[in-house]
Amino acid sequence: MSKFITNDLKTAREIIQKALRLKQYALLEPDAKELIGVFGIPTTRHVVASSVEEAIRASGSIGYPVVLKIISPDISHKTDVGGVRVGIKDEEGVRVAYEEIMRNVKNRVPDARINGILVEEMAAPSTEVIVGGLRDPQFGPAVMFGLGGIFVEIYKDVSFRIAPLEEYEALDMIHEIKGAKVLNGYRNTEALDIATLAQTILKVSNIMVSIEEMKEIDLNPVLVYPKGVKAVDARIILNRL
Ligand code: ADP
Ligand code: MG
Repeated sequence: MSKFITNDLKTAREIIQKALRLKQYALLEPDAKELIGVFGIPTTRHVVASSVEEAIRASGSIGYPVVLKIISPDISHKTDVGGVRVGIKDEEGVRVAYEEIMRNVKNRVPDARINGILVEEMAAPSTEVIVGGLRDPQFGPAVMFGLGGIFVEIYKDVSFRIAPLEEYEALDMIHEIKGAKVLNGYRNTEALDIATLAQTILKVSNIMVSIEEMKEIDLNPVLVYPKGVKAVDARIILNRL
């Protein structure tokens, strides 16, 4: 395990303690992303904005194209409420997207508290997978892997292991799903970085094992590239102790 012990577990603990103090059992996306960053999982660069002007400034410093997302403790599935806009190319696009997101959220979840808008770098499109963790009352911490989108939602094509797990188990989890071929490269697509994906599963295992308060973590999606991976969404649910 020692090679996975992070240099900054203290930061992770502070994020958790702050959320528990506020009784915020679902972490906000920027906090969830900071936490996975501490454990070495690559994620999107981002800035929290609380006005259109701030969002425009943030987009300029991050670099176009950008993604805008609602930040609310009352919204866990942002797309469902019109809370995500991707591929924004310029300042005018930021203005339009910002207003649209705010309007959508006000219409669909009128009582939602809004903490701001997350401005993110737009990650290059690639194959999307899901890496998750949960704490089972009987078996303790476990991890989950699957391909993104309909593969998980409709076909339930996922694999599970009890945490902590060894590297070979993380690789088995990847290879045993029915859709695994998608990751090996087919026709004109390059083979994807399965070694780094396996490391990402091990890092989620490490998070589940080292943070007892962690009830559920959902990196959905993680983009997998020929070299490297990037988590573009992170949802973390804490136990009410
Ligand atoms: P939701 O709360 O609806 O799951 P996500 O943050 O997962 O919201 O965003 C919805 C989708 O938008 C993702 O599944 C992904 O395809 C795309 N997406 C989100 N953020 C980014 C990003 N930073 N770069 C590229 N694509 C993104
Ligand atoms: Mg998501």
